[in-house]
Amino acid sequence: MQLPSFPYHPDPVLSGSIVPAETVCACCGQRRGYVYAGPVYAEEEGLDDALCPWCIADGSASERFDATFVDEDAIEGELPEEVVQAVSRRTPGYNAWQQERWFACCEDAMAFVEPFGAAELQGKYMRLQGEAMMLIVHELGISGGAATRFMNSMDRAKGPTAYLFACRHCDTMRIYIDSL
Ligand SMILES: [Zn+2]
Ligand SMILES: [Zn+2]
Repeated sequence: MQLPSFPYHPDPVLSGSIVPAETVCACCGQRRGYVYAGPVYAEEEGLDDALCPWCIADGSASERFDATFVDEDAIEGELPEEVVQAVSRRTPGYNAWQQERWFACCEDAMAFVEPFGAAELQGKYMRLQGEAMMLIVHELGISGGAATRFMNSMDRAKGPTAYLFACRHCDTMRIYIDSL
């Protein structure tokens, strides 16, 4: 079965926010083969690992439980309300360690790509090494050999973890680093 499309989170299976599971969805009551594993902000309890991607994509889960999946306050900039709603209510979020962020570019929210660590930074995201080092030195205030050690210790699953966003309109990619 083809997953619904999420313009602001194009590959939620890659990012780990949606996982294969035989869970019965708390919203539609169907067993659809996938479940959302990211954060759910709602009064209702028991929604963690309980919603299917289709009920997120069509807004029914958000409407039924008055839930959001991305914290509106984490979305950068002054974006049109419809964009904020699309990201917070109809887009799978992702699990950050402490601080959730959602970048904007070209007057639109960026798309979340995936969390990554040193292995990816030495592989498919090699071109982001310079930017990662800049963040470690200037945002996290770690310098010299400790900065290199920090970068090499980054890990997608264990943290510190880098989070990658891509603009939907231009070539800009942005990352931030979060740890426990
Ligand atoms: Zn569902
Ligand atoms: Zn852009």
